Amino acid sequence: MFMGRLRGSGYLAYHLRGQARYPFRPLATVMRDQSRRVRAMVAYAYRYVPYYRETLDRLSLRPCDFQSADDLAQLPLLRTAEYCRDPERFLSTEKPRGTYLALPTSGSTGLARIIYHDARGCLQNIAHAERDRMAVARFLGDPLRYRESVLTRDGLTSTPHKVQEFCRQHAWFPPYLGIQRQYLSMFDSLEHNVGELNRFQPDVIHSIGSYLAELFGYLKRTGVPCHLPRVVTYGSEGVSEAVRRLILEDFGLPLISAYQATEAFKLGFECEQHSGLHLNLDLYPLRVVDTDGKTLPRGETGEVVVSNLVNRGTVLLNYHLGDLAALLPDPCPCGRTLPLLSFLRGRARDFLRFGEGRIVNPWALDRLICEGQEVWQYQLVQETPTRLRLALVVPPTCDLEQTRKRLAAGLAALCGPEVTLELALVERIQRTAGGKVPPLLAWRPDAEEELFRAPARLSD
Ligand SMILES: [Zn+2]
Repeated sequence: MFMGRLRGSGYLAYHLRGQARYPFRPLATVMRDQSRRVRAMVAYAYRYVPYYRETLDRLSLRPCDFQSADDLAQLPLLRTAEYCRDPERFLSTEKPRGTYLALPTSGSTGLARIIYHDARGCLQNIAHAERDRMAVARFLGDPLRYRESVLTRDGLTSTPHKVQEFCRQHAWFPPYLGIQRQYLSMFDSLEHNVGELNRFQPDVIHSIGSYLAELFGYLKRTGVPCHLPRVVTYGSEGVSEAVRRLILEDFGLPLISAYQATEAFKLGFECEQHSGLHLNLDLYPLRVVDTDGKTLPRGETGEVVVSNLVNRGTVLLNYHLGDLAALLPDPCPCGRTLPLLSFLRGRARDFLRFGEGRIVNPWALDRLICEGQEVWQYQLVQETPTRLRLALVVPPTCDLEQTRKRLAAGLAALCGPEVTLELALVERIQRTAGGKVPPLLAWRPDAEEELFRAPARLSD
């Protein structure tokens, strides 16, 4: 145990070197690191992971056929439904199962599943977190000593806390990374959580987009006194433009997001320029594809496909994550060379289908509903092919009648004149068991929702 932790600490210290400045390294260096990781991961997967051994043999490929990230597209596009059919085939046989950290996904795709992470991958993740921590640290008085309140689904049993505890079993953390954290549950009352924030006095509040809408909407509405942090961060779901403005302007707080998934921890992060998400491409090569899996050029919105070159538990290569986004063509003015992904624009499964083959994409709906910036949060449920129910959370200053008229006309134009709309103003929207507030719930005739196919070409 002692020797194991000593080894783990050395491993962590080795991987921490240079991480804070890594986003500024020349792109050629990043791509060279990426190719090195691709070769190592494919060789590992071929040796230890049944799915990849079978697949490469079946396709008459060998590990040496994978020299760079582009070569990963030779593998079949791995969809969630395929993974769920037999997750065991994706788990490394190198170590006993009990040595891996088992993390359930939030089930936001409708297919709940477990992803296993190995200790070394988790320790690397601690090191990689320095990249986005530096983007947040500029807002903190002392970037090495601060308090952070983390508001997630499960409080102390949440994924970030589990990962941290798992890492602590395998290494001693450098003292300067001893940031004080408080873990709170989004399912506790707002009154309770505000009380805890007042007691803990955090410098950073971290949560998911929908909870920030709920928390800051509540503070604005009620005027309840609450300790304000120096910076607000979120790691999942988006926030509407109205909520972004509420936090930035009404509360005067900087807001920074990160792109994370249970399947791939540190995909990317927002910087102080707010131009998009800087991608950790050396760790998680990412491409954007159409519904046939064909790679789209930069600037076109499609579905995100990612390969995880860090985790040697459940090995996922050429994996369909399903978020909708575009790779941005221009570099960021901040000086970081890591390329940019647009902010996420919903998920591929969020396309709504109406009569006469009419298909409406989620960001067209999002743009319509959030236009005019009077909506903090919404949930649009398609109850039948022609009936929509829209729950809205709006600021007290909102002109309700005008909003109602605008939305009814806009939805009829977008979804078809036969579509009826029932609108409900609510104080908060019910969370799923997974803790999320999905903005769109499409009506589906079958249960196999992952097999749902969007139109071949995505256009604005
Ligand atoms: Zn930047």
